[in-house]
Amino acid sequence: MSAWETNVRRVTPYTPGDQPDRPKMIKLNTNENPYPPAPGVEKALKEFQTDRLRLYPDPAASMLVNALAERYHVKKEQVFVGVGSDDVLAMAFLAFFHSQKPILFPDITYSFYPVWAEEFRIPYETVPLDQEFRMVKEDYFRENGGVIFPNPNAPTSLELGHKEAEEIIRHNQDAVVIVDEAYVDFGAESVLDLVEKYDNLLVVQTFSKSRSMAGMRIGFAVGSPLLIRYLNDVKYSFNSYTMSQAALSLGVQAVLDEEYFQETTKKIINTREQAKKRLAELGFTVLDSKTNFLFITHPKYDAKELYEALKKADIYVRYFGALRISQYLRVTVGTDEQMEALYTFLSRYTEG
Ligand SMILES: *Cc1c(COP(=O)(O)O)cnc(C)c1O
Repeated sequence: MSAWETNVRRVTPYTPGDQPDRPKMIKLNTNENPYPPAPGVEKALKEFQTDRLRLYPDPAASMLVNALAERYHVKKEQVFVGVGSDDVLAMAFLAFFHSQKPILFPDITYSFYPVWAEEFRIPYETVPLDQEFRMVKEDYFRENGGVIFPNPNAPTSLELGHKEAEEIIRHNQDAVVIVDEAYVDFGAESVLDLVEKYDNLLVVQTFSKSRSMAGMRIGFAVGSPLLIRYLNDVKYSFNSYTMSQAALSLGVQAVLDEEYFQETTKKIINTREQAKKRLAELGFTVLDSKTNFLFITHPKYDAKELYEALKKADIYVRYFGALRISQYLRVTVGTDEQMEALYTFLSRYTEG
């Protein structure tokens, strides 16, 4: 090893899901939305004045912040935006998890959390989910340097009730609690209503799933003005211009079209509920998802082998192969047509 290498900040990176690009593939592996963004987004893109690219964008991202503040009935001082919620979460880890005490998160959860903790040298402890993959709220009632959990959780797809989530927040008022609501728009209950009551609560959401804009990279956080100020201090000490002019202009359009948002999320919820029945009929155990994906296992078929067989048929799902979940697959809810193709494949597979 070269001498300089001893000075390198070594990190174990997060492994994103594959982004294969095959002509007739059915892509159900990274929880993207199968429907296009709101029509206003396409219109804004077509009318976008390229001359505006000469100029730096507004560092405060005001147009997007204001649109979000209005949509979620909070003050603009309570909104922070970033380059996808991954960016927002990374900034939040850096800003708020600065204690000698370990932060807490579930043992089975978004696999980026331990990556940021390691990268920023934040001590952490994982809290086991119970046998049914549910969070046990009491396990978070102890001293810590902060708490983060997704609600609904990923990849389990299960929701922790609003009451239980609030109890975790209530027991942890000496540290920052981050609730990652990446999937909340698919029928779960948000804790956004609690940001007025708890000034240490940060709620993080994304445009990547329910607003069909994973490719644009927009995420946001809502919290007390003080939390948001600390978050902005960290942002401005990295990069003042995280949000491109395109992201700002198109993001606003996505927020304004409430009707389209309701319509597409409802479609996905309906397809998901149908999928629960169809997959159960094929012998799968399907967790009670409140997200745009399903976490499934089959008593007779090995998950890894099934994942490989699906891949050969150009149907991509996510296999983690991690402790406790090595027999599970995570399947994104696609269009009804895509799901029919999946059921057809699976009914042949489970017969043969
Ligand atoms: C998808 C996801 C994110 C990040 O999404 P972005 O595309 O970066 O906004 C964050 N948390 C969870 C739990 C997710 O599933």
